Amino acid sequence: MERFSVAIDGPAGAGKSTIAKSLSKRLGVIYVDTGAMYRAMALHILRSGVDPSDTEAVTKASGSADISIDFADGIQQVLLNGENVSGVIRTEEVSAMASKVSVNPEVRKKLVELQQKLASEKSVVMDGRDIGTVVLPNAEVKIYLTASVEVRAERRYKELIEKGEAAELEAIKAEIRERDERDMNREISPLKQADDAYLLDSSYMSIDEVLEAMLDRIEKKVPAWQR
Ligand code: C5P
Repeated sequence: MERFSVAIDGPAGAGKSTIAKSLSKRLGVIYVDTGAMYRAMALHILRSGVDPSDTEAVTKASGSADISIDFADGIQQVLLNGENVSGVIRTEEVSAMASKVSVNPEVRKKLVELQQKLASEKSVVMDGRDIGTVVLPNAEVKIYLTASVEVRAERRYKELIEKGEAAELEAIKAEIRERDERDMNREISPLKQADDAYLLDSSYMSIDEVLEAMLDRIEKKVPAWQR
C-alpha cells in the first residue's frame, strides 16, 4: 500500500494520544507523538534554568538539545541528548513549560523538520497542534479532535486520582484554559482546525466510538486501506 499520513490535532486532554495509539495499531503504522518532542525540549530548558519568556536565551539553549525518537515494541521513546526521557516528561511542570517554549520559532523549526522527516519515510498517525495545518498539509486524513474544557478537566482529574496523586478539579480547569489560550493564540502555528479537517467532539463519545468514527473517515480517504 502507498505511504499515507493521518494528522490528528486538538487541544490538551481531548484524547488524542489514547486514540492515536489505538488507531496506529489498527492501521499497522507508527504513532508519532509530537507533544513528547516539545516536552523533551521543555525539560531541556527547565534543566538549563533559562527564563522561558527570554526568546533569545530559549533559542540559544535549544541549540544544544538533540531530540530524536526511537521505537521500542512500537511505542515511541523520546531521547534528549541520547537520554530516554519518556518517563519524566509527563509532569504538570513540563506541560506548562512545553506550551511556553513551543512559541519559539527556532524550537518549532527544528521539531517540525524532524516530524516531516519521519512522515516522509513511513506511514504515520501523528498528533499535535499544527500537524494538519503546518507539518503535514498534504496528509491524506486530517482530524480535529476536541472536547469541552469541563470534560477534558474531569478526565485529567480522574486520571490523577487513579494514579493516587493529589488533584483539584478547578485548578486543572484553569490550567487547561490557560494552555488552550496560549496554544490557540500564539503567533506561529496556533492550534486551529485545518479547513479540510474532520471535526470530532469527543465530549460525549467513548474511546471506541471515536476510534470507529476515525476508521470510517480513513476508509473514505485511503481507499486502499480496509479493515
Ligand atoms: O500534546 P501535549 O500536551 O503533550 O503537548 C505539550 C505542549 O506542546 C502543548 O501544550 C503545545 O504547546 C506544544 N505542542 C505544539 N505543537 C505540537 C505538539 C505540542 O506546540 N505539534
